[in-house]
Amino acid sequence: MDDSIAEKLRACCAPALSDDRGEDADQAHLDHAEYLFDENEDADAYAELNAVLSSATFLSEPWLRAIEIVEDHKPALALGMYLLAMETITPEGLRSPVHAAGYLHLAAARRRLKWELDIPLSDADLLIGIDSAEGMAKSWRLLDLVAESQVADEQPRFWDRGALAALTQSRPRGTFPEQPDAYYLEIEAVLRARGGGRIVANRMSLADWKRLQGLTDDARHLEDLQTIVSGHDGGARVEWPPKRNEPCWCGSGVKYKKCCGWPPG
Ligand SMILES: [Zn+2]
Repeated sequence: MDDSIAEKLRACCAPALSDDRGEDADQAHLDHAEYLFDENEDADAYAELNAVLSSATFLSEPWLRAIEIVEDHKPALALGMYLLAMETITPEGLRSPVHAAGYLHLAAARRRLKWELDIPLSDADLLIGIDSAEGMAKSWRLLDLVAESQVADEQPRFWDRGALAALTQSRPRGTFPEQPDAYYLEIEAVLRARGGGRIVANRMSLADWKRLQGLTDDARHLEDLQTIVSGHDGGARVEWPPKRNEPCWCGSGVKYKKCCGWPPG
């Protein structure tokens, strides 16, 4: 074959070939790195990861995977790499779906690591990626905390009927009470169990839920949510128990004695 044609073929095909080989090699390096970490061979594991980080480009699958592995062992190093990668993204680049998705990933990771490392969040941290999986996870957790707080807190809380319907719809099945009457009977049982004298509970509306959601960004750790939620003085104060012939506290519009107050405690 003519040398110049061979040269041209090499020039056009070599990059593609090396990309193919690169991907397989990257995957092998990544698998081996995880194995080495399990064996406590950290130095060798980092050598494997460095091979990937130097061959792959920012935001590529292998690069993101490598940094995620680094993150488990050296969060500060991973944060530095995320920041470096974010610097390379241009406004034009953000218009491509690949870069936009990658950028959200980086922003969520940057925020997560800042929480972990106790570094204050900036406005940019809070503005980017509010719809990220991480944000959703925090919202669900917050909702769990508020739902649990009916039993755990000094101040009992319960959702009003409007909020209950909206929250039930927005959650995966089985994660929030779907039968309002059963939910309120459960609260009634909690209130009765606390017994003795007049009890005041907080009736939480959808507006209260939205206010609580605004707190998620203030909470750097999920445990902070617990503290914020238990200290949160939201909702309307409701006295319990009502008189037997008064409307039930649960908002059904039925007299207490014929609703949650039956059978009498
Ligand atoms: Zn009732």
